[in-house]
Amino acid sequence: MSRFFSSRFAELTPYVPGEQPREQVLLKLNTNESPYEPSQSILDWAASHLRPCNLYSDPDNLALRQALAKRYGVNQDEVIVSNGSDEVLNWAFAAFCDEASPAFFADLTYGFYPVFAAANRVPYTELPLKEDFTIDPEDYCGLKGTVFIANPNAPTGIALPRKAIERILQSNTDHVVVIDEAYVDFGAESCVPLIHDYPNLLVTQTFSKSRSFAGGRLGYGMGSREIISDLNTLRNSGNPYNVNNLTTAMGLAILIEDDTTRVNCAAVAGCRDATADSLRKMGFEVLPSSTNFLFARHPGISGEALYRALKDRGILIRHFDKPRIRDFNRITIGSAEQMSQFVSAVEQILQSAGRSD
Ligand code: PMP
Repeated sequence: MSRFFSSRFAELTPYVPGEQPREQVLLKLNTNESPYEPSQSILDWAASHLRPCNLYSDPDNLALRQALAKRYGVNQDEVIVSNGSDEVLNWAFAAFCDEASPAFFADLTYGFYPVFAAANRVPYTELPLKEDFTIDPEDYCGLKGTVFIANPNAPTGIALPRKAIERILQSNTDHVVVIDEAYVDFGAESCVPLIHDYPNLLVTQTFSKSRSFAGGRLGYGMGSREIISDLNTLRNSGNPYNVNNLTTAMGLAILIEDDTTRVNCAAVAGCRDATADSLRKMGFEVLPSSTNFLFARHPGISGEALYRALKDRGILIRHFDKPRIRDFNRITIGSAEQMSQFVSAVEQILQSAGRSD
C-alpha cells in the first residue's frame, strides 16, 4: 500500500476471481464460462456492423437497450447495459444501500457482494442458508434494507421459484430487491415478467455464461424507469462509455442469434444432468443445479484434495476455502467430451485413493 492510499480503503479486501491460467490446461472448469465460442456468423455480423472505433461508443447505448427491451418485452427505459453484470451490481450497492437501507444477502452466495458492500462503505448482513443449502424466503421478508439474491444461487446452483421471490418483493416494498440472474438461462424461472408489477425490483443478467461472451464483458439490468434512471446517474458520473463499440456489435449479433443461445443452454443442461448422475454413482453428494455448474462433495476425499489432484492432471475446478463448504467443489459444465474426460479423471483419483464407493 502506498502512503497515498485513502484510509477509506485501507481495510478493503478485493474479490479474488477464479484462476485464468496463461499456460494451456487440459480442462478449464473453474469460472463458469461457456464451452462454446461465438459462431463465425456472429463474428461476421459484428465485424460488418461495428461502429468506427475512432469514435466513442453511444453513451445511451440505444441499439443494445432496444434489442434487449424487445427480447424481454420491456421498455427501453427499463434497461441499462453495463461492463459485465458486476458493474450494474456494484452500482446497485452504491445507489440503493446506506445506513438507512443496509444490504442483506446469503452467507453463501456470490463472493463479490461483501466486496461491493465494503467498497461502497455500506453496512451488510449475511443471512445463513438452511442446512440443505437452500434459501428460506421467510428470512428475506420484511427486512428493512436492500436485498440481493443470486437466483439461481452460486456456488450452490440451487434456484428459488418466482413465487417465493414475489413474496419477498411484496414484503419489502420500501426497499429495492435485486435478483442476480447470471445463471437463469440454464433452467430457473426469471423475475423479468414481474418488473411491471414491482417498482422495487431490479433484475441483473449477463452475456458471460449462456451467451458465450465472458471476455466481452457485457451485462445489463432491468427494472422500473426510476430505478434504471438512478443507476444511470451513477453510470454517467463514472463512465458514460462503459460498453465499448466492439462489445456492442457482438452483443447485438448474439441477440440476433438467440436460437444458438437456447440450443447451447439445452446442451449444457443435458450434460450437467448426465455429469451429476455419473458423480452420484461414484458416491458424490451433488446439489440440485439449475445452472451451468455443479456443487458436489464426496465423503471419502476432501474438497481440497480432489481440487489438487485434478489440478495435477491439468483440470481446473473451483474450491472455496470457507467453513460450511470446504468439502465441496464447484465444477463448471463444459462440452460432453470435456465432461467425460473430467468424470474419468475423478474415477481414477478415487480409485488410486482406494475410496471409490
Ligand atoms: N453474479 C454471479 C452470481 C456470478 O457468478 C457472476 C460471475 N462471476 C456475476 C454475477 C458477474 O458476471 P459478469 O460480470 O461476467 O456478468
